[in-house]
Amino acid sequence: MDSRLEQGRWLRIPGPTPLHPDVVAVLPHEMVPHRGPEVQETMARIQPIARKVHGTEKGRVLLWAGTGTSGFEASIVNLLAPGDHVVVTVPGDFGSRFASTAEQLGLNVKRVDVEWGDAVTPDQLKAAIADHGDVKAVMITHNETSTGVTQPLAELAAVARDAGALVIVDAVSSAGALPINMDANGIDWVLSGAQKAWMCPPGLMISALSERALEVAKTQKGYPRVIWDAVAMAEASEQNFHPNTGPLTALFALDAALQALDAEGIDAVFERHRTLAAHFRDGLNKIGVKILAKPEYFSDSVTALLPPEGVGAAAFRDKVRANSGVEIAVGQGKLADTVNRIGHMGWVQQPELDATLEALAGAL
Ligand code: PLP
Repeated sequence: MDSRLEQGRWLRIPGPTPLHPDVVAVLPHEMVPHRGPEVQETMARIQPIARKVHGTEKGRVLLWAGTGTSGFEASIVNLLAPGDHVVVTVPGDFGSRFASTAEQLGLNVKRVDVEWGDAVTPDQLKAAIADHGDVKAVMITHNETSTGVTQPLAELAAVARDAGALVIVDAVSSAGALPINMDANGIDWVLSGAQKAWMCPPGLMISALSERALEVAKTQKGYPRVIWDAVAMAEASEQNFHPNTGPLTALFALDAALQALDAEGIDAVFERHRTLAAHFRDGLNKIGVKILAKPEYFSDSVTALLPPEGVGAAAFRDKVRANSGVEIAVGQGKLADTVNRIGHMGWVQQPELDATLEALAGAL
């Protein structure tokens, strides 16, 4: 195996994740005219597979140079106006960041906080919406990367829809790993970043918009917007162009990754994540390592685990790295030194998870 790929197998942080070998192969691609046929063909190939990954037939997938966080801003400036009431689920650090972004952009935000390791329940969301009044949008972190929790997306989205709110989903650590079922769940905007289960380098923000979201964006003038204008991006995307000079290398990479996902089969990809996550948790259980998340919310893309009693997360990470070369992550926010996090999304198979379990057992 190529030594770079071999090295990627030891990268078990929850993103950036190892690149798919087909992605590595296209990275040295020479530049071509950004409005030429090769780029058009690439974008045309991306659209249907990216829709399948999001579970949408009529939604439009828009691609911006940016990171996951820019999806927070893009969704807000296209769908909302300053002062609008929104409810944000906060199961951990990323939910909190979405809420802070909304506050910084002048929205009237109600946070639904829960214990880290837990998820927001539909009843909690319903109560928060009723309490806040005239809620225009609900922001849901599908998979909370800081705690390894997958929230009950279908149920939360249903509550938001019933209240007439737009549904905005942070799927940064779920898109490409866990089913989102955008159409069936009535979701309006799904945002993610290429560096997670998409198996690509960082730098591309991927957003899937419902038809309703695009209609709202056409008339919503609440914020000035230039780069993040979804209407301009959608119009260019219909022609398989980008309104500016598109991030060509990132697009070639995503195209290669999507071909690989499609060849495996999108449902098979989701199934692989489910099976590998269960195998990994089983292995943790066998070596006596505790998981932070409540079992009903275990994430199939990220696991947050507790380091040995009396040992900080950074010290444990360093020990694992020194012993084995396996790179795991520490926690975030208030759990920075309390939990370690392991990514099992994207380009991952059982051997590297077995090697990770062995590395953890050796360091215990
Ligand atoms: N949301 C979640 C759930 C994430 O895991 C991350 C990054 O890890 C982000 C948002 C922010 O994404 P980015 O670092 O690409 O801006």
